[in-house]
Amino acid sequence: MNKRITKEEIRQLALDKGLDFIGFANIERFAGAPPRMHPSSIFPECKTVIVMGKRVIRGGWRGIEEGTHFPNYTYFDYHGQLNSFFIHLPLYELACAIEDSGYEAVPYYPGPPEGQGNNPPIREGAVAPNVHLAIRIAGLAAGLGEIGWSKVFLTKKFGPRVRMAAILTDMEIEPDPLMKPGTLCDKCMECVKGCSAHAIPHLKDHKTIKINIEGQEYEWADVHMGRCTLSYHGGDPSMSPFIHKCFPGWNMDVTQQDMTEEAAYKFCWTLSLGEWRKTHEFPSGKIIEGHAYTYKWGEAGSFGIEGSRGCMRSCFNHLEKRKKIEQTFEGGEFIKRERWILPCKVERK
Ligand code: SF4
Repeated sequence: MNKRITKEEIRQLALDKGLDFIGFANIERFAGAPPRMHPSSIFPECKTVIVMGKRVIRGGWRGIEEGTHFPNYTYFDYHGQLNSFFIHLPLYELACAIEDSGYEAVPYYPGPPEGQGNNPPIREGAVAPNVHLAIRIAGLAAGLGEIGWSKVFLTKKFGPRVRMAAILTDMEIEPDPLMKPGTLCDKCMECVKGCSAHAIPHLKDHKTIKINIEGQEYEWADVHMGRCTLSYHGGDPSMSPFIHKCFPGWNMDVTQQDMTEEAAYKFCWTLSLGEWRKTHEFPSGKIIEGHAYTYKWGEAGSFGIEGSRGCMRSCFNHLEKRKKIEQTFEGGEFIKRERWILPCKVERK
């Protein structure tokens, strides 16, 4: 007979292994989720979704905020180490501990639901692959925080500076209490102001997404994901000095684009990672050299150039000033100098 691990033992193990937070949602809280985003579509016997994660360190953005160093953020704080190793090594050990106590544990990597593709179901009547959870909604359901106006997940200790992953299990565990809507996000619109791509609608635009969990309504802005992707992943000359180096004559104002998210990914990835013939002017052969190397040094399949200027950096700067984040810093505000932004038009030299 296996000794059943307790909820508190799981929580303590998570913290001992280096995770910063962990929360528990019962499967009933996902009642409104579409089938292709529902945990039970991955694991029909799932009774509990355990969501866990780690902070993004504030200093990870320092180089981008100052406009002087871009690779650190991708390597440590985005896809490189944090999303691919720092969270997933302890997560896997937790999954092992749950299975040692006799329950199945499905480790879940938070892939993007928008990358599901149009695959047909493998079995008649079943849900088509690939099913992906909305990890931020899972975090909300697990009581870890709320989704801010910017669509970014906010926690009490770190504000928006977090990344998460999950374990689905057939072990029944008492859920954690939900955070009340509006506990952290005060709808200050600093994220809207700080987003160079104008991807986050203003409150007065009335473009929102709403969901309901256990009778509580959560609402956030219906973010233009095409513009967000263009800016974050290196299609925005106002946020990428590398475009200015490699693309004489480029003239594209991301705030005026209406690409879909998928189109924006195709655009950014192809230009950032593609190659062209080596010339005297561009000897590396990389189309946008700085993006290609950021991706390569990131080591894990993605890269971030814009570094969440509005939705994360402006947001935590605001929440820290308002003393709404528990972690505090001796050196004052994060945003210490006038912020940089480059012209959309790249000069031909
Ligand atoms: S900056 Fe943060 S707190 Fe302010 S509206 Fe945006 S998400 Fe909410």
